[in-house]
Amino acid sequence: MNLIDLGWNDFFAGSFAPLKLRGLKPGRIAEEHRELYEIFCEDGQFKAEVSGKFRFAAQARADFPGIGDWVAINVFPGEAKAIIHAVLPRKSLFSRRAVLAGGMPETGGKTEEQILAANIDTVFLISGLDNDFNVRRIERYLSAAWESGATPVIVLNKADICDDIEARIREVERVAPAVDIFSVSAAKNDGFANIQKYLQPGRTAALLGSSGVGKTSIINCLLGENRLKTTEVRKDDSRGRHTTTHREMIILPTGGIVIDTPGLRSFKVWDGEEGLARLFEDIEELALRCRFTDCGHTDEPGCAIKSALTDGLLDPGRYENYQKLQKEQRFLATRKNQKEVRKQQRAMGKKFKQYHKMMTRLRNKGLI
Ligand code: GDP
Ligand code: ZN
Repeated sequence: MNLIDLGWNDFFAGSFAPLKLRGLKPGRIAEEHRELYEIFCEDGQFKAEVSGKFRFAAQARADFPGIGDWVAINVFPGEAKAIIHAVLPRKSLFSRRAVLAGGMPETGGKTEEQILAANIDTVFLISGLDNDFNVRRIERYLSAAWESGATPVIVLNKADICDDIEARIREVERVAPAVDIFSVSAAKNDGFANIQKYLQPGRTAALLGSSGVGKTSIINCLLGENRLKTTEVRKDDSRGRHTTTHREMIILPTGGIVIDTPGLRSFKVWDGEEGLARLFEDIEELALRCRFTDCGHTDEPGCAIKSALTDGLLDPGRYENYQKLQKEQRFLATRKNQKEVRKQQRAMGKKFKQYHKMMTRLRNKGLI
């Protein structure tokens, strides 16, 4: 396997230089099964685990490698095994808030960042042009896609069963200004030439979308063979029946790389502040025109948002979605701050103890 075809470039080579001096080799994570990884590298494909030292130093789940990550490895060709010593800095990161045991934060549970795909150039946001078509959901996914650092591209699948594709595209255009939108049909293997430009050798794309939208079928079209198994959807809501969440990085015959991500049923953005501002630029701009800078957009006089809503210039559904995402953001921000404060308190406590010790020592020696 050629590193360039796997997505290697100067960005990674730069941070890898000191690791190379240690005799390590670069590899890319293709699959992950509970901390057992499948790695592609120049010498082929290997099973890999992180080193003991790595595990000891890792604090959060996001410190561990995820699919698409470049890692520094030590290979044992005889055993077809490798040990991971470091994760190279990520060029882009697509993650979600995963709910830990104990439930949602609203009910006292905990969340943590979960990596869906790392080092991706393009995020294909897949939506079905069937009963499940939902502009609000596309908007939500889009916010996370911008935040990842990769370029979002909207792919509307199942064009074969849609009567008015143009109308759907216009609907999407309204929530996704400046984003490329394509319609395809995986069933008819139609429309894929348009998205080929994002799948050049060494370029990585992640497929994102609810289960049942046709991600697997699309990958099969791109592969030119039915390698992955698709799931039948229920007629009533077009949702997939129990799609397994097996994920892998796939090298296409064209040289491009695709990473499938699980159907994100309860999709929550992790760190979407920038993505949010970019996606709802029009709303943020409107808010700047409110009479009061701290306008809550409820009963304040001179509220630009309220008047835009009344005049029909701002879609209520879009505004509601914006509020929802904003609330989520604020909630995450306070949690992060709390963590930061606790960290500082701990650091201060340590310093204070050291200071106290030193003073006692000096006093005992009769120096003060
Ligand atoms: P995934 O859950 O996103 O991976 O979706 P799948 O690829 O498993 O597809 C879910 C269902 O949608 C399957 O029954 C597919 O046959 C069907 N499907 C996928 N693409 C198309 C398409 O372009 N047109 C139509 N009519 N059905 C499709
Ligand atoms: Zn206002």
